[in-house]
Amino acid sequence: MQYIVSDFSSTVEVPETGIMREEDSVEIPGYLKDIEKILITENCIKARLRGIANEINKRYSDKDIHCVVVLSGAIVFFADLMRALSRHGFKVTYSLIKLSSYSKAKSTGKIAVEMDIGRVEGKDVVVIEDIADTGLTLDHLRNHLLNEKKAKSVKVCVLFNKMTKKTAEVNLDFIGFKVPDQFIVGYGLDFDQRYRELPFVAVLKS
Ligand code: 5GP
Ligand code: MG
Repeated sequence: MQYIVSDFSSTVEVPETGIMREEDSVEIPGYLKDIEKILITENCIKARLRGIANEINKRYSDKDIHCVVVLSGAIVFFADLMRALSRHGFKVTYSLIKLSSYSKAKSTGKIAVEMDIGRVEGKDVVVIEDIADTGLTLDHLRNHLLNEKKAKSVKVCVLFNKMTKKTAEVNLDFIGFKVPDQFIVGYGLDFDQRYRELPFVAVLKS
């Protein structure tokens, strides 16, 4: 693990060994037998969240946004982010969308909208997603919101950007952390629907 001295005001790059703050403990609870290591501690996530809220605050002078939150993973991140935004005086509305592409730990490459949102016509939309890997999901969603849903503008906010080659060139406007090419769980991210409740981000044993 590497101690982080950054102020978390811009994207934090996470080394394969993981990051923590000086005051953090990285002991893995005994019942979590399948976890190999903690990659990002709860404190680091919290600190970076405030940084993302600051960045969004600088970009929207009218402090009025509509978030489209991608189910299921991004709800944990979004619940914390919207409260960080409220401290800047933001008015936040949101809708939830469900897309599909992943089964277990592998992307199928085909994206479908499983549960759509209501009207966002003419709104400034911020897409909230947990992680970008190939970029296919976000590319598909961005086009859907602009072309079919007629959003006024679409910006994309991801908590994690995986340092992998992007199949689809999608512009990520706000990025929490750059993460190594490993399958991660926790803070909303699952493996077969498990581990979403963990307050930290971890790598599973292979
Ligand atoms: P993309 O379409 O960018 O390849 O994949 C994005 C989706 O794949 C994310 O919304 C997420 O659900 C899933 N995903 C990608 N990488 C990971 C990972 O490391 N861990 C988990 N739990 N999900 C991932
Ligand atoms: Mg997802």
